[in-house]
Amino acid sequence: MITGTTKLLALFGSPVSHSGSPVMYNSAFKALGLDYVYVAIDIGNNIKEAISAARLFNMKGFNLTMPCKSEALHYVDEVSKEAEIVGAINTVVNENGKLKGYITDGIGFVNNLLNKGITVKNKKIVVLGAGGAATAIILQLAIACASEIVVLNRRGKTFDKFSEKIKEMTKLSDTAISITDIKNTEIIKGTDILVNATPIGMGTDETPVNSDLLKKDLVIADIVYNPVETRLLKEAKNRGCICINGKGMLLYQGIEAFRLFTGQNMPKEVIKA
Ligand code: NAP
Repeated sequence: MITGTTKLLALFGSPVSHSGSPVMYNSAFKALGLDYVYVAIDIGNNIKEAISAARLFNMKGFNLTMPCKSEALHYVDEVSKEAEIVGAINTVVNENGKLKGYITDGIGFVNNLLNKGITVKNKKIVVLGAGGAATAIILQLAIACASEIVVLNRRGKTFDKFSEKIKEMTKLSDTAISITDIKNTEIIKGTDILVNATPIGMGTDETPVNSDLLKKDLVIADIVYNPVETRLLKEAKNRGCICINGKGMLLYQGIEAFRLFTGQNMPKEVIKA
């Protein structure tokens, strides 16, 4: 029941009509008896105006999806250390009238691995991609004490931008982080965990790496979730790798945002059902 005191949360982005977030959050509110409601609002490119409206309506918070995760950073009052380094926010919480931005992609990724019994501490990790999601994941892997992270990306703007961020990241952890050309895929042979944080495989039958490089027991996490089992994961399964699909990260980044909004744990089993 929506009442005069119901707290409003929303997803801002464009498009948003396909989003599973309203069902996820509203089911959780119902299960826990919380007086919140969550809606999806297509804001086009009007992120500044949307954030002003969120202030006017005294919204409890909002999530951000494409195309406004980076721009939004300029219109909130404060951002977390992680979000500042990543240069993007996906969750904003109204903390007594102050809007604070967070990025939950990285913690969602790492918590999903932990939930599957995979620890990160002292592991060698190769990450394909150096974009928004990759940067959030790499930062969190470093905070979780991976021993070494090698990032593979094409030479160009993204490569250069990431190279500049490495110094900031190493201030928060002792993990050795480096970036090299995506052609150097041989490096995958000596790694414990391989992460695909490029969109390769999303809606297509492409794969970012030759399957000869995938050895038995290598952990492969593909953050693409459409399809849930990408060609990379299919080939990895045939080679005896431990496969993690992108749906878990999606759920766990939502769980972290839920905790930031409400201070409570999302009832995972209700959401999975
Ligand atoms: P992004 O910021 O645009 O970054 C994409 C990265 O992939 C860049 O490093 C880009 O390098 C690289 N890349 C793109 N196409 C490539 C190709 N054909 N060959 C080699 N490298 C390529 O995107 P993003 O926001 O990080 O998202 C990446 C993927 O993760 C998307 O599929 C998205 O849906 C998924 N994702 C999943 C979750 C989840 O919860 N599971 C969360 C966030 C994102 P260049 O810039 O050099 O092209």
